[in-house]
Amino acid sequence: MHRIGIIGAMEEEIASLKEKMEQVTCKKKAGMEFQEGILRGKQVVVVRSGIGKVNAAVCTQILADDYQVDAVLNTGIAGSLNNEINIGDIVVSQDVLQHDMDATGFGYERGQIPRMETLSFAADEELADLAQKKCKEVNPDISVFKGRIASGDQFVSSKEVKTDIVETFGGFCVEMEGAAIGQAAYLNQIPFLIIRAISDKADDSATVDYSTFEKKAIEHCVNLTLAMIEEM
Ligand code: SAH
Repeated sequence: MHRIGIIGAMEEEIASLKEKMEQVTCKKKAGMEFQEGILRGKQVVVVRSGIGKVNAAVCTQILADDYQVDAVLNTGIAGSLNNEINIGDIVVSQDVLQHDMDATGFGYERGQIPRMETLSFAADEELADLAQKKCKEVNPDISVFKGRIASGDQFVSSKEVKTDIVETFGGFCVEMEGAAIGQAAYLNQIPFLIIRAISDKADDSATVDYSTFEKKAIEHCVNLTLAMIEEM
């Protein structure tokens, strides 16, 4: 691969990747700092998009336009939607969708963006398989799952909202950027993969768990992202 884009919504999610980079150059655009350089022998651009779908989509478009990236990886944390997926475990995207997209008034399914041909955006299968394989090597103590990731402009921290998302979309985890990155990557025909470590269970204990487990979850995600880049 010629150049890989790596997005983290928050600085904490990409800080240690940035520290490990060599031959670094930095450019600012749309309030985001695009740090280009070498990481594990590969040309990468690492950037903090900010939180939420709009930030994430803008960021991905800049990676496409200004850096012509051949793939986009998103590393970060998420809330689990499945009892088998514990705090610290990793979910890699099979596909991503927006759980807060709702045009049901016109007869569309929930999550369906009107006048787009697909309900969800499929992640790159090869990247997802590689992530599953590498995760077992670099994070042997946790489990890795491949499944649907649901994104929305909402921190999910109630059992009711969580249950509704699970029943409607059957996702593995919930977060606030993945589907926007996936959609922007799809529009630009760039392969993408969302890699998320679980920080909380997206229920009434989510805000407390999030603060307690954020750091450990990020560590797992960073380990995997580094191992992925080496093989891409
Ligand atoms: N504590 C932060 C706010 C974080 S918002 C602050 O004040 O700056 C939550 C971030 O973590 C988002 O980037 C989202 O993608 C992810 N996330 C983790 N758990 C989540 C959950 N239960 N619901 C939605 N997003 C979650």
